[in-house]
Amino acid sequence: MIRITEKQNCCGCTACAQSCPVNAISMITDEEGFYYPKADEVKCISCGKCDRVCPIVNPQEEPHGDRDVYIAQNRDKEIRLDSTSGGVFSALAQFIIDKGGFVFGAELDSEFCVQHGQGKTKEDLQRFRGSKYVQSRMGNTFQNIRKILQNDQWVLFSGTPCQVAGLHAFLGKDYEKLILMDIVCYSISSPGVWKQFLEHLEKTGSVRMGDVERIKFRDKTKFGYEYTLMTFYGKNNKVLYSSGPESNQMLRSFVSNTATRPSCYSCQFKGVERVSDFTAWDCYNIYQYDKRMDDNQGSSHVMVHTEKGKQLISEIEKYLALQKVDMQKAVASEPALTDSASPSEQREDFFRKYRAGEDVFDTFFLDTGRVKIERFLRHSLSKLGIYKYAKRIMKG
Ligand SMILES: Cc1cc2nc3c(=O)[nH]c(=O)nc-3n(C[C@H](O)[C@H](O)[C@H](O)COP(=O)(O)OP(=O)(O)OC[C@H]3O[C@@H](n4cnc5c(N)ncnc54)[C@H](O)[C@@H]3O)c2cc1C
Ligand code: SF4
Ligand code: SF4
Ligand code: SF4
Repeated sequence: MIRITEKQNCCGCTACAQSCPVNAISMITDEEGFYYPKADEVKCISCGKCDRVCPIVNPQEEPHGDRDVYIAQNRDKEIRLDSTSGGVFSALAQFIIDKGGFVFGAELDSEFCVQHGQGKTKEDLQRFRGSKYVQSRMGNTFQNIRKILQNDQWVLFSGTPCQVAGLHAFLGKDYEKLILMDIVCYSISSPGVWKQFLEHLEKTGSVRMGDVERIKFRDKTKFGYEYTLMTFYGKNNKVLYSSGPESNQMLRSFVSNTATRPSCYSCQFKGVERVSDFTAWDCYNIYQYDKRMDDNQGSSHVMVHTEKGKQLISEIEKYLALQKVDMQKAVASEPALTDSASPSEQREDFFRKYRAGEDVFDTFFLDTGRVKIERFLRHSLSKLGIYKYAKRIMKG
């Protein structure tokens, strides 16, 4: 029976809970706001299935062999602008929809909590587009996917590498009509902290949550891909609240690895070899590959791990402009592909205050003079259209 003794040894993928034949495992929110499995010892029949499917207890065999890596941009400009990087997810999802299949991805529910949902139409894809830097609630997603696959229909599942590994272990076999896409992630933030952030905005009068219809964690509309903002939209796409990663307190808690899940500090799903068919991540260095594609609207790297993935590439090319690039250069461009996040020094204090029910945002992420200067510079340089050059000089 699964027992979590070290929090770093559970990524919250839910493979154990969804595999239990007697529904003895529930996903419970811990005192830091993350989901963990808890087994009911009375219900448990000691079958051992939960331990067998856990991708941390029993790491999956990752396919070896040659991989290809591409730079990619969705051919539909609106879709690309709406996507976090180059819109790889939407191109794969469109392929699945053309086949009459189902797409699973992270979306916001009516309370703006992150969960995995399913869709079947082109219009559904907007819900899944865009990174949400908060761990998603999986519910019965894996069980639903298995039913669809058993009906011989196509499925795309898109999620973090640990969620993809969890699904792969849960299914226990390959399905011809299943496409797995993971994203590169340094870390994931606490759903509880996200909830407190929304309450903080309401309390401080920054936004009336009742007026909010849509939230984009990385909105490119104002300044493009190089400097994205978290934006809350109301009726008729009215901007109700918008702030960049230097100012936005939730994003600051994310990029500083403060509100991070413990498993992300020693992530077992890093590296080039993965169980997914495709891995997508940002491509800020597009100008190093092809200057013509450097248009500040978003670009992705996409790595193809499997023979199935390689066969699909020619079919998704009608939705995605692709160019094969050098593997070493692509891997070197993003440390999050191979390295775990380092814990922030203030994590312990942050969660002590969070547990005590105190407002963590105005304690740890104040709008200091330094933040104000950085915001002023970012906005000014973006308006002049030279932000990306300044960013590249700073990076060296
Ligand atoms: C938590 C997180 C951290 C990331 N960190 C990095 C990073 O350090 N470096 C980097 O290069 N790229 C990172 N990315 C990936 C990047 O932001 C893009 O998602 C990726 O480039 C694919 O973009 P896209 O334009 O194809 O798709 P998009 O349309 O932006 O979306 C891709 C898919 O990501 C999935 N997704 C979104 N939020 C979540 C979530 N909370 N949990 C599970 N799945 C989710 C959805 O299923 C969605 O359909 C991160 C993404 C997430 C979600
Ligand atoms: S050992 Fe079997 S019955 Fe017990 S919690 Fe695990 S999966 Fe459920
Ligand atoms: S990593 Fe996944 S399968 Fe393992 S204990 Fe945690 S939720 Fe369960
Ligand atoms: S960093 Fe690792 S443990 Fe954390 S969400 Fe990503 S894959 Fe999961």
